[in-house]
Amino acid sequence: MESFTPLNEIELNLLSQGSVSEPMRVLQSTDSIDNQSLHEKCKPVDARDPNLKILISRLYATVRDEEKPGVGIAAPQIGINRRVFLAQRLDKKDNPFEFFVNPEIVWYSKVMRVGEEGCLSIPDIYEEVARSLAIQITYYDLEGQHFQEVVEGYTAVILQHEFDHLNGVLFPERIEEQLQEEFFSASPNGELVYRK
Ligand SMILES: [Zn+2]
Repeated sequence: MESFTPLNEIELNLLSQGSVSEPMRVLQSTDSIDNQSLHEKCKPVDARDPNLKILISRLYATVRDEEKPGVGIAAPQIGINRRVFLAQRLDKKDNPFEFFVNPEIVWYSKVMRVGEEGCLSIPDIYEEVARSLAIQITYYDLEGQHFQEVVEGYTAVILQHEFDHLNGVLFPERIEEQLQEEFFSASPNGELVYRK
C-alpha cells in the first residue's frame, strides 16, 4: 500500500524559490532531464498537508502566467512528482480553476471524441487525440474529504490529459498508442469514435 506522505524538504525547497503567487518554470519535453522527470509516475500526497496550499498556489500562478496560459497543469510539470493537478472547469459558471488531490479516474465512457490538444510542457505541438466523452473521477480536498463526480465535454478532456501527467504519460504517447488501435466511427462526421 502506498503511503500518503506530506511534501518533503526537497519539494518544499523548490516551492519556496519565489513567492507563492509567482509562476514557476515549466519542465519541457525538449530538455532531456526535464523529459525524464515528466515520464515518472507521481506519488500520492497527504491531502491534509498544510503545505499543499503552497503547491496549489504556485500551480495556479504558473497556469495563469500571461506569457503562456493554459487550461490545466499537473504538479510534475513544475518538478513536483506528486498526484495533484489543476484544471479549468469549462463546465461551470465563470470557468474556475479547481484542484484535484490524489485523483483516480474510475470510469471512462466507451464513446470518445477526437480533438486537438497541446501541452505547456511540449512546445509547438498541437495534435488530435481521442479521449472519452465522459469520465467519473474521484479526488480529495484539503480537509481530506473524498469526492466523486461525473464530468463530460472539454473539461473531461482536460482532466484526462492532466491525469495522464501523474502517470508520466504525455499526449503524443497517447496518439502513438492510438495509432496501433482500431477505432470505429460513432457519429456521421467522424468526431465521435469507439474501440471494440
Ligand atoms: Zn500537459
